[in-house]
Amino acid sequence: MHWPIFVRPTAGNGILLAMTTSAQSSHAPRPARTALNPTGGFLKGFTHSLQPYIGCRFGCAYCYVQESNVHRFFNGGFAWGDYAFPRQGVAERLAVELARDRRKGRLDSLAIFCSSSTDPYQGAEREWALTRGCLEAFVAAPPGLLVMQTRSPLVERDFDLLAGLGERCWLSMTLETDREDVRQALTPHCPSIARRLATIRAARSAGLNVQVAVSPCLPYTALDDFGGLLVELGQRVVVDSYASGDGQGGKRTARTSIPDEYTRLGWGDWRAEEAARSLYGWLHERMGARVGWSQAGFTHLAHRVTTETTD
Ligand code: SF4
Repeated sequence: MHWPIFVRPTAGNGILLAMTTSAQSSHAPRPARTALNPTGGFLKGFTHSLQPYIGCRFGCAYCYVQESNVHRFFNGGFAWGDYAFPRQGVAERLAVELARDRRKGRLDSLAIFCSSSTDPYQGAEREWALTRGCLEAFVAAPPGLLVMQTRSPLVERDFDLLAGLGERCWLSMTLETDREDVRQALTPHCPSIARRLATIRAARSAGLNVQVAVSPCLPYTALDDFGGLLVELGQRVVVDSYASGDGQGGKRTARTSIPDEYTRLGWGDWRAEEAARSLYGWLHERMGARVGWSQAGFTHLAHRVTTETTD
C-alpha cells in the first residue's frame, strides 16, 4: 500500500501531540490521543483512516509515505523502514470515538481505511496487538465499512474478528506481482508471494470478503498467468501504477530509489503503464465491475457505503 495522502499533521491530531514525547528507540510507544482521522485526496470516499502504528518496518522501495509529512515530522531520527512506533492506547481511543458515533447514530455512515501510512500487521503487531484491539472495538460498534489493508500473513490471527464484521468488512491484500525475484528486489522485508497467496486463500476459505491490490503493479510473469491467479483469488481486484497512484503523476516515485532500481535491473521505463493497463483490461474482460483502476478502484467500496447512507 502506498497512498499519497495520509494523516493530516495538525494540532488536533493525536499523532502530532504524541510526537512531542521523545522516542529513544525505533519501536518506542507514542500515546494516541485520537484514533480516526478524516480522509481526503486519494482516499476520498472513505470517511476516515486509522493508523495503529507510525512508520512501517516493511520499508518498501516505492512507498510514498517516505515522501509524506507523516515520515518527515514523526520519524524520530530514523530512516523510512527503520521504525514502527506503536500508537499506545489507540484501541481504547477508538472505542470512545465509536461510542460517540453510535450515540449520534452515524456508525453506518463510517467508511474506514486501515491503514494508509503503515501496515497494521507488520511485526510489531505480534507484541502490541493494537490492530486486534481496534478490531475488537469495531466488532462492538460496527462501522458501515472497514477495509483492512495489509500484505502480512499475521492478519490470519484475526480472521475471527474480521469475519465477525460480516459484509461490513473487506480484507485487501497487496500482491504487486507473482514474481518472487521482483518481490525480493524491491520489497525484501515483506512476506513472500507464496505466503501471501496462502493467506488470501485462507481468507476466502474463512468466508471473508477479499480484495487483491496490485498496487503498484510490478513486473509480472505473463498476463495469462498473473491474471488467471488474480481471477481465482479475489472477489475484487484493484490495479494501480506508479504514475496513476502516487498522487503527483509519478513525481513522488521519481524521488524514490525506483528509477535507479529499474535501470539496474533492466526492467525498462518505470513510468510505463502498459503492463498495468494490460492487466487491468485482461481482468476487466473476465471480472467486469469487480476490477478497478487506481483511485476509483480503491474507493469503490467506500462510495457504495457513503452514498447509500447519505441518499
Ligand atoms: S507495507 Fe509499509 S512500507 Fe510498504 S507500502 Fe505499505 S506502508 Fe509503505
